[in-house]
Amino acid sequence: MRDENCIFCRIANGEIPSATVYEDEWFRVILDMGPASKGHALILPKEHFKDVCDLDEVYASKVLLLGGRIGSAMKKTLGCTGFNLVQNNGESAGQTVFHFHLHVIPRYEDGEVMVAWRPGHAEAEELKEIAKQIKAGL
Ligand code: 5GP
Ligand code: ZN
Repeated sequence: MRDENCIFCRIANGEIPSATVYEDEWFRVILDMGPASKGHALILPKEHFKDVCDLDEVYASKVLLLGGRIGSAMKKTLGCTGFNLVQNNGESAGQTVFHFHLHVIPRYEDGEVMVAWRPGHAEAEELKEIAKQIKAGL
């Protein structure tokens, strides 16, 4: 289903023009208008899913393969040596457009570190307790 009020539904379905890298029956891949690095792309499903929890099996089974394909093409053509697949869910996680999208961010030698965190510390008992909490929600 599409949502007429959703900008990514409109871009994905070609109503609003975009710098398109790839298109098939399910997805349009466009360049991000505020790129974190040269070539930063967004994989947009043509149907509206608000986040990863909302995706159906068809889209979920295809999106990661497409991410790998786009990343490989970037390595061949842009001279990046790696790429990050980033996907934000919820405002607290940095999601700003509530139509599922997978970022493909090319990474260049000597480029800025963009996806990183400082490792914390947790005792084994604490990890077991947290694992139990999460399991209860599955
Ligand atoms: P999020 O923060 O939701 O994971 O990522 C949203 C991304 O979409 C941002 O990187 C932002 O630059 C990009 N973006 C938002 N609106 C548009 C648009 O209209 N066109 C394009 N090409 N990118 C957009
Ligand atoms: Zn949408």
